[in-house]
Formats: sequence, structure tokens, C-alpha cells
Amino acid sequence: MNNSVALSSLQLRHGLLPAEFAPANPPATGQAGFVTGDVLAVGDKIQHVGDVASATAQAVLDATGCFVLPGFIDLHVHGGAGYDAMDATPEALAQMAHFFARHGVTAFLATTMTAPHDAILAAVAAVGQWGETITTGARIIGVHVEGPYISPKFPGAQPAAYIRPPSLREFAELVAAGPVRMITLAPEVDGAAALIAAARQQGVTVVWGHTNATYEECVQAAERGVTQATHTYNAMSGLHHRKPGVLGATLALDQIYAQLIADNIHVHPAAMNVLARCKGVARTVLITDAMRAAGLPDGEYELGGQPVTVSDGSCRLTDGTLAGSILTMERALVNFMAATGLPLAAAWPATSRTPAQSLGLGPRYGALTPGYQADLVLLDATCQLMATVVGGQVVYLRESARLSNRSTLISS
Ligand SMILES: [Zn+2]
Repeated sequence: MNNSVALSSLQLRHGLLPAEFAPANPPATGQAGFVTGDVLAVGDKIQHVGDVASATAQAVLDATGCFVLPGFIDLHVHGGAGYDAMDATPEALAQMAHFFARHGVTAFLATTMTAPHDAILAAVAAVGQWGETITTGARIIGVHVEGPYISPKFPGAQPAAYIRPPSLREFAELVAAGPVRMITLAPEVDGAAALIAAARQQGVTVVWGHTNATYEECVQAAERGVTQATHTYNAMSGLHHRKPGVLGATLALDQIYAQLIADNIHVHPAAMNVLARCKGVARTVLITDAMRAAGLPDGEYELGGQPVTVSDGSCRLTDGTLAGSILTMERALVNFMAATGLPLAAAWPATSRTPAQSLGLGPRYGALTPGYQADLVLLDATCQLMATVVGGQVVYLRESARLSNRSTLISS
């Protein structure tokens, strides 16, 4: 063989795998929708799923009693562990990647705030410059530009002073600076149609959010190529039976993916249930919308240059407006299951497969299929996080005895 690079290999042994990924006639388990099996990763890809009879891998991760799922993909997250994407430093990105991996995230979009153009540009450029060099946590698969081209009627915690009309020049500079993969905008503002077209041309997923659009304006935006809704229910016109608004369009248009902050604070559990019933798990994208206080104690923090008080699980500006969350993805999954009554076998795609598909990454991420990225998460019976694997490397491990060859553990 020409290839002289020795690939690392990792075998996850005897885990509970979603039955759809297992070969025929797998051994039964006590868990509906799951079968017992192994996942073999070679290099950064999944090579085999099912029974791996002979243990030839360099490292074996004992997954007995644990669910093995595609790693979580968070498409809307500003920060965590004291850092924020707007810090625009390699340290911030590395610390965020490390922190998110401890909560099962294997890939995320670093999400920017409504801010002066130079500040957003710096955040995008930071991901462009350093994003791919970070290998000790979740992978940074690009940038989600949230604002500044949003409605002043629904700023949420986006600083209103920096909300402005869409600028094709600014957008072109952002795209040139780094991997912009997603943009949240208000489709009803002047100039939005041209920006939607420009974004689609660049392969950027366009999302409506922080918007006061009518239902009809949303239908038109969907025809122009908007495919997703940012934090459904929050910062959008609500559902009135004669004015269905953005929420009505998000719930009713089949092609629209719906992001959801499942922290029980931004959205009532019953409203989560309504969303899941309208959209199905195949169109529901769980996000955290976390800010820098995630993982840290209650206290005073900052978001978009504004003071934020964190207490009892909520983050608020001085006027009481919710300002991001301190939610983590494994908690989002548990909350979503509790709100909807869906079992894990049905709910898990909202954390990985659906976000991957919504971003056009369905052929590489979000499934336990040979050839896919070996991005995996291990959860115990109560959905507590046990391990996170990114590109075939164990980046988080709760119980060290489960790993045969600890020299392969990248960080803990
Ligand atoms: Zn927002």
C-alpha cells in the first residue's frame, strides 16, 4: 500500500445501538429500538457497525450498558465555560470546543451576535484561521451569523443599536473571512430577498429569526430558500388564528426545520410537545443557544457587550429579557423527551441527524454508518454522558476504566 500513515483505531464494544444501524438478526436487548453491537472506527471514520468479533483495535471502549449515538451537533451556540465566539481568539474557540465535548457535542457552529461589522468579521475570521486546528474537543464546523439583519421589533438579547439593513458588501466580506454556514435574518426587512439569494448562492443555510414577518412573507421567504427557523417561539411573531405569523409558518411548512431551546425556560414543555407534533423529530433541531456562563456558577456575565445576570438556570438582561441560556445538549435531550413523551430511540435524531441534514451534512454526520465521521456519544441508562468521541478520538471519558488503552485519551 502507498499509504504509510498508521491509522488509529477504536472499538466501542457491546453498546446499545439504534436498531436501524445494526445488521440483520442482532441480539435483542431490554431497550425497545436498540440492539447490542460494536462500532469500529478507523482513523476518523466509522468502518464497521455490528459485531466486531476479533478485537484488533488499538483501543477498546467498553460501552456495556450504554447507548451509542451519533454525537450531538449544536447549530446555535454562542459560548460556554467563560468564553464567547465574539471573543474571536483561538483560546475562546478551543475552550468552547473542550467544554461542549464534555456535554456530548461533537460538532457546532460558533454563533455570532448582532454587533459592529468589524466585530462579527473578527469572530468569523477567528474560526477561519483557527477552527480546524482545534482537535481536543468538538469540531467547529463553521459559523452561524445571528443578526445583525433582523427586526428591531424582536431583538431578544441582540443589542438593538447594531441592528441594520442587510448589506451584500458586509456579507461578502464575512464569507471571504471564514466558513459562514448559516445566517439568521428577518425575511421581511428591506434587502432581505437579495441577501437570501446571495447566501443561497454561497451554500449558506438561511434561517428566519428575530422576525416580525407575516405568514405570507414567510411563505415567500421559503420559496426564496429559507429552510430553517431560529429558536422557534422565541423572538418571532406568534400564532394567531387569523394571523399565523412566523410561528404559524414554522409549524405548518413541512420543509422548515425548527430550532428549539429545550431548557424549559425559553419554551414551556407543552409548547415543545406542540412543536414536536407539528414538525416531527425529522424537522426538529435541538440547540442550546448557550452563552459564556454555561458551565459556570450563577453571577454576572456579558452577552453582546451587555450585562447579563445568571441565576436559577436563566440568563437575563437588566430589563429581564432572556439572554441566551446555560443549557447543555444532553440536558436538552432529556428535557425534550420529558416534554414530548418520546423515547430515546425516537428522540435522538433531533440532537444529531436532523441538525446535520438541515445543514446539508447528512451524508457525513449524524449516523452510525460505515464511511461517516466517527463522531459518537455514549449515554448511560439515564442519559448521563459517559464518553464523547470526535473523529475516532476519545475526547471525554467519565469512567476511565472503560478504556483499554488510556494513552489514546486526548483530554478529560
Ligand atoms: Zn437569538
